[in-house]
Amino acid sequence: MKVTVWNENLHEKEIPLVTQLYPGGLHGYIAGFLKDPETEVRTATLDEPECGLTEEVLADTDVLVWWGHMGHDRVPEEVVDRVQRHILSGMGLVVLHSGHHSKIFRRMLGTTCNLKWRDGARERLWTVKPNHPIAKDIPETFVLDCEEMYGEPFDIAEPQETVFMGWFNGGEVFRSGCTWVRGNGKIFYFQPGHETNKGFQNVYVQQIIRNAVHWACSMKRVELVCPHVEALE
Ligand code: ZN
Repeated sequence: MKVTVWNENLHEKEIPLVTQLYPGGLHGYIAGFLKDPETEVRTATLDEPECGLTEEVLADTDVLVWWGHMGHDRVPEEVVDRVQRHILSGMGLVVLHSGHHSKIFRRMLGTTCNLKWRDGARERLWTVKPNHPIAKDIPETFVLDCEEMYGEPFDIAEPQETVFMGWFNGGEVFRSGCTWVRGNGKIFYFQPGHETNKGFQNVYVQQIIRNAVHWACSMKRVELVCPHVEALE
């Protein structure tokens, strides 16, 4: 399996805490815990030509992991078009935290993906679909002592499956881990992972993202076409 971890890599250049928490940047850190003997992981960032998401890279990517926040608008439409085409033909997409407002996630869902937010909350995550592959080895519930609250209403297309729910100590709740299928591609969104909190250091958060990458990987890519055909019989 080949995974590409995309990160805008902007906070890392401005806030020293981000690279203290996540050496190598969010992309480098996430790539680090996704690597295993069967998983080849590369990274791509906003400042690379074509955002590092060339046709060659995407054609050689089974699952794309996305972290973005302040630079969503700086991703060119032609890159979004290309990523969308690859998802529809079977590339998996795992969108993390503030990637909810990325162009590609909004494109795939067709909704605003707006939500409520406030940093510095305690979050209790609940596994609400324990038999789902993305919930493998995850307890029924676990706590993140400090995470950014994302609250309902979350304006997303109705998920195919809601695997995790989040409860915050301000009283809010959130559909924290959801799946969709678009064309031949599988999509998972997961809420924890604010750049100045330690969410990605949590072993269960890491396991969920690892599980999601394996779940989103499809066996083959099939371009969706619309041919006129002659009758077979
Ligand atoms: Zn955030």
